[in-house]
Amino acid sequence: MNADDMQPWQWPDAHWRAIVDHVRAGRTLRPAQWPGGARCAVALSFDSDHETNELREGGGSIGKLSQGQYGNRQGVPRILSILARHDVKASFFVPAVVAMLYPDEQRRVVAEGHEIGIHGWIHERNSVLPPDVERDLQMRAADTLERIAGVRPVGIRTPSWDFSPHTLAITRDMGLVYDSSLMADVDCYELMMDGEATGVVELPVEWIRDDAVYFGMNRFAGLRPYTPPTDVHDIFRREFDAAYREGGLFQLTMHPHITGYRSRLWILESLIEHMKGHDGVWFATHADIVAYAKAHAA
Ligand SMILES: [Zn+2]
Repeated sequence: MNADDMQPWQWPDAHWRAIVDHVRAGRTLRPAQWPGGARCAVALSFDSDHETNELREGGGSIGKLSQGQYGNRQGVPRILSILARHDVKASFFVPAVVAMLYPDEQRRVVAEGHEIGIHGWIHERNSVLPPDVERDLQMRAADTLERIAGVRPVGIRTPSWDFSPHTLAITRDMGLVYDSSLMADVDCYELMMDGEATGVVELPVEWIRDDAVYFGMNRFAGLRPYTPPTDVHDIFRREFDAAYREGGLFQLTMHPHITGYRSRLWILESLIEHMKGHDGVWFATHADIVAYAKAHAA
């Protein structure tokens, strides 16, 4: 019997082992210390999905599109002004369609010293795409970001952190330095494919450190924001405090159309103030943190 016709408990060991080993965490890339003797690195990221959350579903809800536009008109500018006020550099992951809708936004992000990384074409889900389509979209997304922002992206965050069995090979073949969509560690690590090192570094994310999980809302389904902003702040702060104690990495994902509101933006600003109250905290883009971790892994 072919493994595809079996139930998982009937699989030969080699079958489930091959599934697990296809994309796997390899060696940890954790420097003994960060630049300037810092004990903790802070990787803030903002996924500028804007209208593509609606478009990728094939939807055209004018209400939801207006919420996406808020991300451009209010969310990103408010976030950029907080980052500038505290002189903190961060990474923005941007679908190609958003870059084409808002080229000036991307140019401003780059001009203010931040990084722009790949975030799909139209925030599509990689795992439902044929492999050749996924490859074509990822390559065209990189070209589009480079054309608009003037800088070739070196990293990718897959939309919705959805990772197909082909994503890592595409990322490696494109010569990208890092991915930031997987969750196997708290530190950077090397990505392995079928037992072989790929050279691609993972800067790991987690749903725990993502604003969308706590603030998601869908008027026509049961989804409502279920965690008060003070509690979200508390969770993020505890994640940082432990990273600082351990001497590691604190990574955070926020969305301009989710966090960019008057009652929520204080979370970002208060966190930055809290982190800046500690000695030896290095704020940097995902690209800079990955490059340092790779070069100085203990
Ligand atoms: Zn996204």
